[in-house]
Amino acid sequence: MSAKILDGKALSEKLIDSVRAKARKFKPTLAVILVGEDPASLTYIKNKKTACEQAGIQYVEFRYPLKTTQKTLLAKIEEINRDKKINGVIVQMPLPPQLSAPLLMRAIDPKKDVDGFHAYNLGKMMLSPEFEDLPPATPLGIVKLLDYYDIPVQGKEVVVIGASNIVGKPLSVMLLNRNATVTTCHIYTKNLAAHTRRADVLISAVGKINLVTAPMIKRGAVVIDVGINRDKKGKLCGDVDFKAVSRKASYISPVPGGVGPMTVAALILNTIRATERQKS
Ligand code: NAD
Repeated sequence: MSAKILDGKALSEKLIDSVRAKARKFKPTLAVILVGEDPASLTYIKNKKTACEQAGIQYVEFRYPLKTTQKTLLAKIEEINRDKKINGVIVQMPLPPQLSAPLLMRAIDPKKDVDGFHAYNLGKMMLSPEFEDLPPATPLGIVKLLDYYDIPVQGKEVVVIGASNIVGKPLSVMLLNRNATVTTCHIYTKNLAAHTRRADVLISAVGKINLVTAPMIKRGAVVIDVGINRDKKGKLCGDVDFKAVSRKASYISPVPGGVGPMTVAALILNTIRATERQKS
């Protein structure tokens, strides 16, 4: 048996194309704040810019040097909050140590928080799927991927490895909202394999090569790989031993071409949604 590929790249293109009419109607603008020149961040924002162009979203970028102060960025965020022409804003992570991501996230107007990291949007998400107005982009992308491939999670054992505020935790909540039985594992989890072997759907969001190996999964499981790593040859790879796990899983998402493009598509969906709400 060889697992079917969860093709995030193809689906993301479909989703981005599907919002073009709305983009023409509402004319959204997305602002991206970048501090420093981290090579991975430069790649991510380039992908976001391309996706905006494809969707018909106006893209504006504000670049700051690595030594930028919190005060300067807070002033910029406040200016963007007041700017009626800008409908969504994201601050590209990671940030240098003098900057506090939680404080910057808190300063963003929740209505323009298209990365879904503001406590208001995260809090609303706890209530039910109807209140997931602007959920964090990666969890939203994963939920869209599962929906598209008709993989229901209701009543299923879902194991999420990773408990960060941007992926693992909000994803666990969104899957619980869809009536899955969710286990969230993290660095302090004892006997990780005992949990993962029970999973009908296993999602790894850690950032560690070969964390998930074939003996750790149940035959026929759906495996979603969020991790982004570079192997010894510098090639992009996820957390999952793709080759061996593909022989045992029913579905698997590749890296690259799985969750990465879905995250970008979800950002586009959030930008459209935020604009629609602001303008109607
Ligand atoms: P993070 O470092 O904030 O969190 C990592 C989580 O993994 C933590 O909860 C930690 O407890 C857990 N962990 C670490 N080692 C572990 C181990 N040995 N066993 C079990 N759990 C362990 O990372 P993050 O921001 O959530 O990102 C996770 C990974 O996903 C990274 O590789 C990142 O690059 C990637 N990522 C990908 C996308 C995408 O669009 N594809 C988006 C965001 C993050």
